[in-house]
Amino acid sequence: MNQTKKIWLNGKLINWQKAKIHLLTHTLHYGSGVFEGIRCYQTKYGPAVFRLNEHLARFFYSARSLDMKLPFSQDELKKAIIKLIRVNKINECYIRPIAFYGYGKMGLNPQGAPIDVGIAVWPWGKYLTKEVVKIKISKFIRLHPQSVDSSAKVCGYYVNSIFATLDARHSGFDEALLLDHRGYIAEGPGENIFFVKNNTLYTPAKGNILPGITRDSIIKIARDLNIKVVEKRIKPTEIKEMNEAFFTGTAVEICPIAQINQIVINKGKIGHLTAKLKEIFEKVVKGEEKKYLKWLTLVK
Ligand code: PMP
Repeated sequence: MNQTKKIWLNGKLINWQKAKIHLLTHTLHYGSGVFEGIRCYQTKYGPAVFRLNEHLARFFYSARSLDMKLPFSQDELKKAIIKLIRVNKINECYIRPIAFYGYGKMGLNPQGAPIDVGIAVWPWGKYLTKEVVKIKISKFIRLHPQSVDSSAKVCGYYVNSIFATLDARHSGFDEALLLDHRGYIAEGPGENIFFVKNNTLYTPAKGNILPGITRDSIIKIARDLNIKVVEKRIKPTEIKEMNEAFFTGTAVEICPIAQINQIVINKGKIGHLTAKLKEIFEKVVKGEEKKYLKWLTLVK
């Protein structure tokens, strides 16, 4: 792991190695924390964080879903992230805020347990290292929307993602694709999915997916380019009709999909529209598209 010097914990900057927690931390046992994944990019204006406000809004939404009243405001966490990037003197990094029920209380009712908030930043390159990926429809389905709040980013949910990831890796694939409880395509373990058919973008509708911020960015960019975007239920049997497919997410950014199970997409190559959106997205995050500068928070 690419270490940096400092980690922000409960309002203080501490050395990376000192950021340790007690064995009886509530969230370690029950997954009762919430987190975010955010990226900071080098731009001609200096380092800039992509859609920081939206990520922090989702962080607070996730916390509320677990009855967790964060002891810091959104603005305080925004300032903490910017300060942490500056202190660590890095231009491009992944940003991981986490809030968790801490040490002092066991049992499933978290009420009364202390709430800790931490932020780490470190350089993190490509999440999926290949240019195009082969994915497997998982035998594990996404968590039922009546079992959890699907729009929240809760630590414990990621056990479902880990099961799916291990299943895909054991079968020789790069990544998993999870269906929802009704058998429709939902998302990857840490990514949303898009398809292209006859120059129209299709993506699973919200409800059983994490409403990704990259997903939202791609939908807005595509619509600004007059590309039709349809959010709907998509069946696995429709995959063979698709011309292109790609994942979106903060960690993967835009990642072309070459194969789903045994179905090869676009002869295993990156599709025309995927390539175009990927190129524009890369410019947007690097501050090279004036129209979307509003999505960047400069680290000054
Ligand atoms: N789905 C899941 C399950 C995720 O964990 C992520 C990553 N946060 C995404 C989709 C993509 O979301 P975003 O574009 O906001 O990173």
